Order: sequence, then structure tokens, then C-alpha cells
Amino acid sequence: MKRPPVVTIMGHVDHGKTTLLDYLRKSQIVKSEFGGITQHIGAFVVPFKNDKVTFIDTPGHAAFAAMRQRGARVTDIIILVVACEDGLMDQTIESIECAKKNDVPLIVAVNKCDKFSRDQKVLDARVESIRRDLIVHDVITEQDGGDVQLVKISALQGTGVEELKESIVALAETLELTADEKCMAAGHILESRVDPHKGKLCTILVQRGTVSKGSLLLAGNKNWAKVRALYDEHGKQKSRCPPGEPAQVTGWREEDPPSAGDLVIEVASEAEAKSVVNQYKLGRFERKSKIRKKTSNTDDDVEIEPIENKLNIVLKCDVDGTLGTLLDVLDTYDSDQVGIDLAHFGVGAISENDYIMAASFPNSVIYGFNVKCHDPSIMVRAKREGVPIRMYNVIYQLIDDLKQRLEERIPEAEKEQELGRALVAQDFVIDVTKKRKVHVAGCRCRLGVLKKSDVFYKLIRNEEVVVSDMIVNTLKHLKDDVKKIEKDQECGISFIGHDDLEFKPNDTLVCYEKVRYRPKLDWNTRHFSKTER
Ligand code: GDP
Repeated sequence: MKRPPVVTIMGHVDHGKTTLLDYLRKSQIVKSEFGGITQHIGAFVVPFKNDKVTFIDTPGHAAFAAMRQRGARVTDIIILVVACEDGLMDQTIESIECAKKNDVPLIVAVNKCDKFSRDQKVLDARVESIRRDLIVHDVITEQDGGDVQLVKISALQGTGVEELKESIVALAETLELTADEKCMAAGHILESRVDPHKGKLCTILVQRGTVSKGSLLLAGNKNWAKVRALYDEHGKQKSRCPPGEPAQVTGWREEDPPSAGDLVIEVASEAEAKSVVNQYKLGRFERKSKIRKKTSNTDDDVEIEPIENKLNIVLKCDVDGTLGTLLDVLDTYDSDQVGIDLAHFGVGAISENDYIMAASFPNSVIYGFNVKCHDPSIMVRAKREGVPIRMYNVIYQLIDDLKQRLEERIPEAEKEQELGRALVAQDFVIDVTKKRKVHVAGCRCRLGVLKKSDVFYKLIRNEEVVVSDMIVNTLKHLKDDVKKIEKDQECGISFIGHDDLEFKPNDTLVCYEKVRYRPKLDWNTRHFSKTER
């Protein structure tokens, strides 16, 4: 069966892609029985004479790029919009490259021709110059003996748009676009979102077979639906969606919504759909346990890791792309100061299930990226039970918060903080009692201060530490016991338990305190964290 061509509009920014799409959408509304608003669902269908043309409704086309990465081919024809006063610009050339790479035929729409409506000669000269530039990029228009159609339009006023549609239909004829409408359906997800009322909504471009109410669909191997309802771009229910047309579909059963670019296939039974999705979940679980393993001391036994020193994370994102980025960042975490356990992650709003996952572990935090928590009772519970729910829409801010939480969990360590230094001039031996002789270091404070209490000393000889952690027995200035010795003062020091320690001229005694501190987290997130840039 013949199917409508699927058309994508590309070109440089400001050359009029959105204006053209708006005009096409409006022309469709006028012709359709339901006036009023159309919604962006990823694509819309424009009837033309006895044919239909499906337009992908995002200009510039991030979604197109995403699909290309996944190897999905969702467009038959590219309309290359070129503003006649500007000619070929960077993104025009990128669009040409994109068309070539994907082997998708082009139609050139020279736009904003109304700007030269009073001066036909200037317009002709501009168009000719555009044609010449196109040749350089191997796009040969019919006027130059090639097979690329060029249409002069004004997207703003609508002039030439009918000819453009005519050209699309003519090109579609030569492409002989057909599809079997009776086979098991297949297509690609154009757009996916969660509607507060309708739940998960995915626009599928059906490319083969027909999707109807009750069809069993598998998307990206991660979610499946028994189609509950199909909607068109007017929000109106339709009973079936044939090849070449888009439909918004509800009835998705799994939590992870399908993503733009995901392949959709029809399956014969629920059991088949479920088994594929379970396989997928297993794969994801492996990823989780990979992170878990990093926190564990043994290779195999994940369970024996010390539970008190790890942070459990539940991560929810608006789209798969961001989720992937954040998971990639987490994958780079390999510090063994604190463990990270990714208890749960996925796409979509923060749900009760997410909360339960987090609350069932000690030391949990829930991160939401560009998502909301629609259930206020969860927020109340989280506050009461002390489970932080943190919402972000900037990646580095989320990472910085995570780093801070991890750092707070690192056990305190001790370090030495030097207070002063003394240079030994002489070793004295004092007879304390008849039996007890004590070595005393006669020295001069050269740096800082030497204290008697709450400090330690180490003896350095020839740059090597001879003894450390010594505690003062006596500290004297001349004949007096003192609490501290300032710089350049002379003193005699002896140490508890070191009566026999013989001092030598030029030994150094270092006086220090031991301070507790929290070590910095050993995780380099320079690529993601602004504070470390
Ligand atoms: P996009 O970035 O390619 O989507 O470009 P837009 O559709 O947003 O258009 C950029 C600007 O050009 C807007 O101010 C439009 O009103 C204007 N524009 C688009 N098409 C035409 C046209 O055919 N004639 C004129 N005069 N202006 C146009």
C-alpha cells in the first residue's frame, strides 16, 4: 500500500523553519474538520489533494540527531529552507551533509521571497547565487540539470507553499513509498512525555503495519503497552494508525517511559513483551551492581560491604539522555572512602515507589533532575522521615550536592599541625635522683612556639625522624618551669619515657598538635563540576 511521505524541515537558524511548519499546520487546521489548536506531538499530517504528507514538527531537529545516532530512519524527504537574503550558512551546509549521510533526498525551499516581491530581478539573482553555492555542495537543482527541486516560497505569507507540497508529493511518487499495512506493526518513538492525566504518552511514527487499540507494542525493549488509546495531533482519539502516520499512544506498563528514537515493534503476546522487558531490566541491574561492586571490598560478595559508610541514591530524570549522562558520571566514581549504591533510577516524576526504595535503606538521597514530585504526601513523609529529596536542573549542581553528601560521610582522619621548631645546641644530663639520670635538650626556639601541654614533639636528625609523638616532661626557661617558649628564647626540654634519649647539636625538635579533619573526596568530576573548572 502507498504510504504518506515523512518530511523533516531543516536549515540554518532564522531562515524560517518554524514559520513554515506553523503555516503548514495552519493550512491543515483549516482543511480539517476540527478547528482550533493542534498540539506538538512530534509530527502532524497535512492532507493534500488525494494524498497526505506527514511533517516531523521539530525544526533544527535534536530528535532527528538522536534518532540518527540510534540508526533510526524516520524521514523520507528533507526540506532545506534557505533564506534568500542570506543564502547558504553553516547549518544549511550541515543539513546538506546530514541528508547525504542518511541518503535522504532534498527539496530546496528558498524562503522569504516576499522581501524581494517588488524587485524580481534581484530575487532571481539571489536564487541563482544560491543555486551556484548549492552546486559546490553537490546539490544540483533541476534548473542546473540535476534532480533537486527548488521552490521559491514565503513561509510568512504562504506563497509557494502549495507548490512546495506539490513537489513533495511528486518526489514521494518517484520514491515509491509503500508499506505493508497488514503485517505486525513497527515504527519509532518521536516523542515521549508523561501527562498528569493521561500518564505516559508516546508519539509513534508507524512505519509498517497498523497500530490499533489493543495492539501489543514493545518500545526500546524497555517498556511495553497494550494500546489503550491513540490520539492524533488534535488530541482526538483515533481507532487505528496506518504506516507513514503518527499517533500518540497510551497504555505503557513499565515505569521507564520509551525515549525518542526507540524502535517500536508489535509483539504477539504479553508474555513475549514482558520477557524482553525483564531481560532489559536485568541488563540495567548489572549496571547498578557494577557501581555497587566498586564499593565492596571483595570481588564477588556484594552483601558484606560496610553498610554504614555508603550513600544510597535514587535518581529520576526527565529524559533518557540526561539519565545516561548522570549514570556515566556515577560510573566514574571509584573512591573507596565512601560507597555509592544506586538503589534505583529511571525516567519520570518522583513516585511513591521511588520514595519507598530510598526510605528502605539508611543514608539515602533522592535526586530529581528536571522532574517534579506530583504527590505532596511524599514530600511530607520525606521531611518527617529525614530522606532528602533534591531537585536540580543543572547537572554540575546535582553533582556538587552529591559530592558534598559523600564528603560528609567520609570518616574523620588525624593530621599533624606544626606549631614551632627548636634547634638543639647541647645535650645535658641531669641527675634527678641517685639512680635516675635524664637527658635534657638545651635548645633555642627558631620558629613559632613550643608548648608544654596538649602537644607532641618529634626529634629530627639529619632530616630523619628519630622519635615522634613524645610528650613533654619538663619545659624550662633558665631555672623556671614554663608553659611555652617563644621564638628566639632558650629552653631545656625533657620527654616522658625518654630519659635515655641523647640529643645532639643541630638536632631539630618539632612541636605539633594533632587535629582531626574530614578528608576531601577523591573523585575527579572536573568535566562535570563547575566548582572545579
Ligand atoms: P527558524 O529559526 O528557522 O525556525 O526561523 P523562524 O521561522 O523562527 O523565522 C525567523 C524570522 O524570520 C522570524 O522573525 C520570521 O517571522 C521571519 N520569517 C520567516 N519566514 C519568513 C518569510 O517568508 N518572509 C519574511 N519576510 N520573514 C520570514
